Amino acid sequence: MTFKERTAIVTGAGRGIGKGIAEVLAANGVSVICVSKSESSCGAVAAAITAAGGKARAMAVDVSDGAAISAAAETLLKEFGKIDILVNNAGITRDGLLARMSEEDWNLVIQTNLTSCFHWTKAIGWPMCRARYGRIVNIASVVGLVGNAGQANYAAAKGGMISFTKSVAKEFARRSVTANVVAPGFIKTDMTATLSEDVQKAAQQLIPMQRFGEVADIAHMAAFLASEEAGYVTGQVFTVDGGMAM
Ligand code: NAP
Repeated sequence: MTFKERTAIVTGAGRGIGKGIAEVLAANGVSVICVSKSESSCGAVAAAITAAGGKARAMAVDVSDGAAISAAAETLLKEFGKIDILVNNAGITRDGLLARMSEEDWNLVIQTNLTSCFHWTKAIGWPMCRARYGRIVNIASVVGLVGNAGQANYAAAKGGMISFTKSVAKEFARRSVTANVVAPGFIKTDMTATLSEDVQKAAQQLIPMQRFGEVADIAHMAAFLASEEAGYVTGQVFTVDGGMAM
């Protein structure tokens, strides 16, 4: 993978998949802006990347707040001049069967997982179009393709991310800005660690490879889509799930 003096924003880079993506991009020479909700988590990741010889900066932004995203994007565009890579990865779950799902949990998941993509892509995508270069990588989920009982809010957000990405890919293609989706299956992070042992065992039965994936499995796919080499790939969904949703 090659990256020519590129700068990337990775949201949700404080832990899990986002941290893995930030580390792989930084290891390939990309300047990475690590965004997370808490200052301490993105700060620790940026400090570790810098200590390892990479280029990173941390910024705490609550991505459920559109005004906060717009302000952050403005600051970063001023500071860096241009952003070449945007990875919308920050996400949460608030699971529950529909009959018991509160409007608050519906709205929070849609705002954090989907509306955040709208705000980041609007703020960063247009400058990419003007620069005639950009890579947008959105981390959705296989649940956005196949649905899941108990995750109507999450599935709606992730399915929305997929069709949002395809629309943006069509709008931005003429300007050499690509937009693609990585749809992970079950990956070993804090998000899946909260699942009960029974649920984890049942999930493994659904995976042809019979195991959860690693953060690196997602990070390398995302990094490829963010690289120079992926310039003719746009509007696509790449499932990385051990064969679960084939
Ligand atoms: P994770 O370990 O729970 O980490 C989530 C990251 O998102 C954290 O850095 C967190 O910030 C950040 N975040 C959450 N809410 C935020 C907010 N309002 N504003 C800014 N940052 C926020 O999650 P993960 O498992 O790595 O998941 C990453 C993405 O992959 C999510 O979009 C998730 O839906 C998707 N995904 C995960 C799996 C899986 O099996 N793990 C499967 C399919 C899809 P703090 O560090 O500050 O808390």
